[in-house]
Amino acid sequence: MSMRVTHGLPLARKTTLGIGGPAAVFVDLQDLADLPEFVALAADFPGVPTCLGDGTNVLVSDAGCSSPVLRMNTQGVRFMGEVADGRTLVEVQAGHSLHELVDTVVRRGLIGMEMLVGIPGTVGATPVQNVGAYGQEISETLVEVTAWDWVLSRRVTLGAAACGLGHRTSIFKGAGRWTLLTLVFALRKSALCAPLTYRVVADRLDVPVGSRVPPIEAARAVLAVRRGKGMVLGCSGADRRSVGSVFFSPELTPAQARRLRDEGASINRFPDGSARVSASWLIRRAGFALGGPIAEGVRVSSLHHTLVADEGASAAGFTEAIDVVVNRVLECTGVRLTPEVDFLGDWPEEEDVAG
Ligand SMILES: Cc1cc2nc3c(=O)[nH]c(=O)nc-3n(C[C@H](O)[C@H](O)[C@H](O)COP(=O)(O)OP(=O)(O)OC[C@H]3O[C@@H](n4cnc5c(N)ncnc54)[C@H](O)[C@@H]3O)c2cc1C
Repeated sequence: MSMRVTHGLPLARKTTLGIGGPAAVFVDLQDLADLPEFVALAADFPGVPTCLGDGTNVLVSDAGCSSPVLRMNTQGVRFMGEVADGRTLVEVQAGHSLHELVDTVVRRGLIGMEMLVGIPGTVGATPVQNVGAYGQEISETLVEVTAWDWVLSRRVTLGAAACGLGHRTSIFKGAGRWTLLTLVFALRKSALCAPLTYRVVADRLDVPVGSRVPPIEAARAVLAVRRGKGMVLGCSGADRRSVGSVFFSPELTPAQARRLRDEGASINRFPDGSARVSASWLIRRAGFALGGPIAEGVRVSSLHHTLVADEGASAAGFTEAIDVVVNRVLECTGVRLTPEVDFLGDWPEEEDVAG
């Protein structure tokens, strides 16, 4: 059997922040064939099972998790051939690494995911917040997912349109109802990537915004930009306890966009039509210094304006740091940040962890 069951495992070991109390039961699932055993086991515990991928976008409570935690560790990529419009269908197991998937498809000359290179985590987690970067989102290539539906107690297939994919959101975000099992993407064969929309990436390649370059070159440029900001796991030892961006890039009203542009912000247009500024720009604007402490065990990264954890960090300290940042950014810029990180586990009733 490829299902490993552990009782009382500290979830801090399974998250990149290195924060979180124990899981009552932790199941590492490496083969979907064992899903029925997991479903039967879960019935003995309270609550809907909590899913965990690589733990790169979660803050787990200090109390840990009394419901079963399912770590999706299934691997595999299957090329399914072309559909009528010439795109290639690719089926991927939920536990497969996104970075490795991007590497595989770029090498095959398939475009649609090249800008997502270097984003840590599993493919199964990508629809949860419609993972995206540098002008590309999973919503542009996702065709369908299969999932275990804990409400209907059966396996379901959901087309991309039913997933409610929006800016860093979907029907899965915060719902706890589905465990994503497999995902199908449609990618196009092309010698050139889609037009570059981000100046930092275009500058890195020394080409104008709007240029098209071979996808492998686009991916290399994105990776270099990400490394410079500590946005590739393991590229900066001191800042490694990270969830990337802790906050969403907030949507701006036209008046806010004009004001912040005048103050020097880059305002980006997203595939859903919204105009947004990065949370990191707002955090810098609010006067937080790189490397500066915010709460016990929590500080600003030394490379980028986001929060990272150090020795002594706890979930309580991290939520305190989130509150400090939200309040100061609101005071200084008039824009309210909301957390992008997912809060997992058992949180005290009165705690407002959603900001
Ligand atoms: C350095 C760094 C850079 C990052 N850069 C980006 C970026 O550029 N763009 C971006 O969008 N994100 C970014 N992220 C965030 C993160 O990588 C993504 O959100 C990623 O998809 C999380 O994958 P994971 O496997 O670690 O999921 P986890 O963190 O383990 O889980 C995230 C959420 O997905 C749920 N989940 C996980 N697996 C499943 C499943 N199989 N079924 C159902 N629900 C599931 C969890 O319950 C949780 O709610 C970054 C993170 C880091 C640390």
